[in-house]
Amino acid sequence: MQWTDEALVLRIGKFRETDLWVRFLSRDRGLVTAFAFGGSKSRRRFTGCLDVFNRLSVSVLSSRDGRFLNMQEATLLEGPERLRRDWRRQGMAANCVRFLEAMGVPPDNSRSCWELMLGVLQLLDKEEEVPAVLPVLFRFRLAAEQGYAPELSFCSRCGQPLVDMQQVHFLVGEGAVSCPHCRRHGDMSLSLGQEALDVLSKVKEYSPMAWNSFSLSPEGARQAARLIDAFVRYHLGLEWINGRFKSM
Ligand SMILES: [Zn+2]
Repeated sequence: MQWTDEALVLRIGKFRETDLWVRFLSRDRGLVTAFAFGGSKSRRRFTGCLDVFNRLSVSVLSSRDGRFLNMQEATLLEGPERLRRDWRRQGMAANCVRFLEAMGVPPDNSRSCWELMLGVLQLLDKEEEVPAVLPVLFRFRLAAEQGYAPELSFCSRCGQPLVDMQQVHFLVGEGAVSCPHCRRHGDMSLSLGQEALDVLSKVKEYSPMAWNSFSLSPEGARQAARLIDAFVRYHLGLEWINGRFKSM
């Protein structure tokens, strides 16, 4: 079977003199690994576009027994410039990619994950300023896209709206937020000001290109990052160890 789709290149490796494997996020099929025979030299079929973070149009053929995918052709649709030159931004993009790989991309969710990843790469390439917590915000949004992120508008215990409360509490074990009155003695919780709560709600709602405009003080950023880390660890079972997210 042959198919054509848009792809974001996430990783590339060499496995023989001129042959490559390419791991990419397909818009409609989630995470895919395909072989590109002659990938490191065939300019006709790949026009030198097999490079990480490029957006490509790819044509892929599955092998006769269906076990392998061969990339037949690829055309460059968009490639980053600034991102290529800036190692700090590359590190942020790579961190997002590792998390995406650890979470996986269910096929019915492919389009929204693809748009999120594309938005993050565009933000990293085009904007003058990039929030340092970007990879953390990405984790939260990806979890939300897959239906995991906590409800942030109402207290999980009494149902009161949280919007006007100075301080609320993230209940780590429950993965939910409570108002100050409902926090019980012995709850393992992280306190959260309105600023961090507001930014987290917006990250769920707006595309990454808008994330730059959220004003976030160092303390607000710290609170948001702490909540997301705890959530990822306790509810998704993932922890960042030696440059990878590992299942706990
Ligand atoms: Zn409450």
